[in-house]
Amino acid sequence: MGGSVSVTMTPAQRNEIEKTLDRYMGERGLKSTRQRSLIVDVFFEMDGHFSVEEVWGRVRQDNPRVSVATVYRTMKLLAESGLAHARNFGDGQTRYEAAIGKDHHDHLICTRCGTIIEFENDQIERLQDAVARKHGFQVTSHKMELYGLCRPCQRAVEQPA
Ligand SMILES: [Zn+2]
Ligand SMILES: [Zn+2]
Repeated sequence: MGGSVSVTMTPAQRNEIEKTLDRYMGERGLKSTRQRSLIVDVFFEMDGHFSVEEVWGRVRQDNPRVSVATVYRTMKLLAESGLAHARNFGDGQTRYEAAIGKDHHDHLICTRCGTIIEFENDQIERLQDAVARKHGFQVTSHKMELYGLCRPCQRAVEQPA
């Protein structure tokens, strides 16, 4: 699953991740574990939109004893604490994406091969604000997802092998 908006984590952002997570877990009486820290580190090094299984596959390269359940719980924690976005691109698979170190962006999703293209468009953002204003609506978040075929898939559909 691709992602083109690059992730460059600054030390300040790393710090923010740690502090936010510590606070969130502290409030819930959860303890930070070695495995959990590893999962968090690995996830924030990955750039893109990943399922629990994909994060698990990468984590297992470093520690084969980490269970998929631990990854699942950790990704849920990251989403609940606002450090990650849980995305659902219509295939029933939840994918996680870092919410830190990345500007707001929207997605084009290929329904044939699953490629995810990220885009930012100031005009669309401004239009959304204008629509909300017109309806006296206060927007707290939004997501824009366009579904269709990526360029290679359009070609493949036009000229079946
Ligand atoms: Zn495609
Ligand atoms: Zn994205």
